[in-house]
Amino acid sequence: LIKAILFDIDNTLFPSGEFAELARRNAINAMIEAGLDADATETYAKLKKIIKKYGPNYPKHFNALLRELSMRNDPKIIAAGIVAYHQAKASIFPYPDVPKTIIQLREKGYRICVASEGRALKQWDKLIRLGLHNIFHDVFVTSRKSEKFYRSVLTKLKLKPQEIMMVGDSIEKDIRPARKLGITTVLVSSHPSKEGDYRINKISELPAIIERLEND
Ligand SMILES: [Mg+2]
Repeated sequence: LIKAILFDIDNTLFPSGEFAELARRNAINAMIEAGLDADATETYAKLKKIIKKYGPNYPKHFNALLRELSMRNDPKIIAAGIVAYHQAKASIFPYPDVPKTIIQLREKGYRICVASEGRALKQWDKLIRLGLHNIFHDVFVTSRKSEKFYRSVLTKLKLKPQEIMMVGDSIEKDIRPARKLGITTVLVSSHPSKEGDYRINKISELPAIIERLEND
């Protein structure tokens, strides 16, 4: 019997990829407006490479971008990028069916949790902006979603693998390591996949799956 449901955050609770792209494009447009002499499309491609090279948590992507464009450091242009980026990042929304489905599952008595990879402060920042931070009973953030991480979640929740369901979009992070421990996994994806015990297109399909599982 399922007692707790773990949710991934990025691209599970909200379209993280779409918002990240919007934030980057807005930043580049603002930098051009502030005086950056460059083509927006080419600059976007360069910025993506820089993010890949330095990682998403590197604090000086825009400085590296100016270096890449052979421009000297210009605080006006960098500040314009930072402001536009944060304004776009500040306006994130959950997928439309997420809040009501999570509340519905919570009201049915399930323990509703987040299992997220990243930095705790950044993941909490997202949950707060999404307006979901007080809905979850527990939030677990790890630097790496490994079997060890899922085992530690089981210990903290004092539950057995059969009593837990993990819901997420990443086969590598959300499905495989959890499934190895015997946790029931649900892949959120619009593409067919053999990974995961179940696959859904959107979170609102979850209650029916759980009901079916309970009746078996
Ligand atoms: Mg994800």
